[in-house]
Amino acid sequence: MSARLSKTRFIAGRQCELRLWNDIHRRELATPWGETQQAVFDRGTRVGELACQRYPGGTLVGYKPWEREPAIAETQRLMQDPSVPAIYEAAFEHHGLYVRVDVLARNGSGWDLIEVKASTRPEKEVFQQDVAVQYWTLTGAGLDIVNAGVLVLNRDYLYEGGDYDLRQLFRFGDATEHCIEVQGAIEADVQRFQAMLGADQPPDIAVGDHCFTPYECPYYAHCCAGLPELDHPVSSLYRLRASQREALDALGVEEIADIPSDFDLNAVQARMRQAVIEGTPWISPRLHDELRTLTPPAYFLDFEAFMPALPPYPGTRPFQSLPFLYWIHKQAPDGSLEHLDYLHEEPTDPRRAIAERLIEDLGDHGSIVVYSAYERRMINDLIEACPDRAERLEAIRERLWDLLPIVRNNFYHPDFQGSYSIKAVLPVVDPDSGWAELEIADGMAAAMAYENALEITGAEQRDEVFAELKAYCEQDTEAMVRLHHALLQISKTSRGEEH
Ligand code: SF4
Repeated sequence: MSARLSKTRFIAGRQCELRLWNDIHRRELATPWGETQQAVFDRGTRVGELACQRYPGGTLVGYKPWEREPAIAETQRLMQDPSVPAIYEAAFEHHGLYVRVDVLARNGSGWDLIEVKASTRPEKEVFQQDVAVQYWTLTGAGLDIVNAGVLVLNRDYLYEGGDYDLRQLFRFGDATEHCIEVQGAIEADVQRFQAMLGADQPPDIAVGDHCFTPYECPYYAHCCAGLPELDHPVSSLYRLRASQREALDALGVEEIADIPSDFDLNAVQARMRQAVIEGTPWISPRLHDELRTLTPPAYFLDFEAFMPALPPYPGTRPFQSLPFLYWIHKQAPDGSLEHLDYLHEEPTDPRRAIAERLIEDLGDHGSIVVYSAYERRMINDLIEACPDRAERLEAIRERLWDLLPIVRNNFYHPDFQGSYSIKAVLPVVDPDSGWAELEIADGMAAAMAYENALEITGAEQRDEVFAELKAYCEQDTEAMVRLHHALLQISKTSRGEEH
């Protein structure tokens, strides 16, 4: 008997047949989803519920994912009832492939097939695959599909308060033509997957770039277990292009040190190769001068922002970045530090309050040290939200002093392992720094924690989350202070100056 596939498993098989084989035969090898990933799924659920309201009067087909037969029977019953204009979670099976359709809307004598995504990009390849496999199943089951496509959030929709305007909040990306074009390929893949799943042994597939596209594979830890660890794999080269990767694979080169001297590398990649071969850091003679362009007092600034899928406040759009917290370490010319911070604790639009406090805290002179272009984007967003404060905010933007390009253009240590993230760089140049194990470990987790904290009614519990958020943001700015100091010492040493 052929294996029963689902839409999710079909897409897993398109990514990697071993992943699909594992999903069916040894699911226990998967690394469980983290809390952040779970929160992303939950966000999708909320968007899905609203999307259904865009097709009013419909009926939901219940049943658990494994209750296939009753769900299919219920769908058939609803399709026969002309008073039902739309079916949510409609269930179908064709040649062993089972799908649940987010919305199946009646259109004349046929149907519209709508896949809902908490995203703004219907053209994403994986979304197109998703709707195409549903189209194959439904047409195979005998339905006449008039339109098939992906319903996403409309990034241009400006929420004005009250109920959402569902016609404006969502936008439909038609994929009917694409679905028709790829039907043959889907049929062939379904047959191949079913034959592969019937084999006794898993397919022999090595790890590679495909393990992260379109999604990070949950079997990565298992597949990598026992593999020899490379010292400096070519995959860690900065901005490695696919064509470079293919050329290095063709040469059988896995280690950066083995890359031939005439291989086409960009400037940063060439420095990496040189540093790895020589086993010493590469330091540009310009590092010292670049570091000295900083004007005291220095304000080391880090923002945290959240990007809710659904616009929460009037004047916001889907997936708009909304800064809710900043931390500043202000360093006087004598090196002494003081800190300034602001966390928006109310469930209201934080942008006005953040802008006002930021203007107050950053004064009118001194470099504002950041690490990446993120803070510039946040300030641009604040300018848009508070046009009456544009002049002051533009003056702040003029003072931004980004440490990241200074590091990238002037320094590389083999132990960076190809990464210029501050978490990779700081422990190498300042081994005593360390990163504390905090409850909140990254920006995404911070954003999720903040969104959740706004809904917590217990003050004590909410304050605990707020304190964790501040600790996370403080650690990032402190890291910038330490990194700047360590680089100054390195640049002085390289010039033979005393510390
Ligand atoms: S980690 Fe990579 S090779 Fe292993 S199952 Fe996943 S996608 Fe396939």
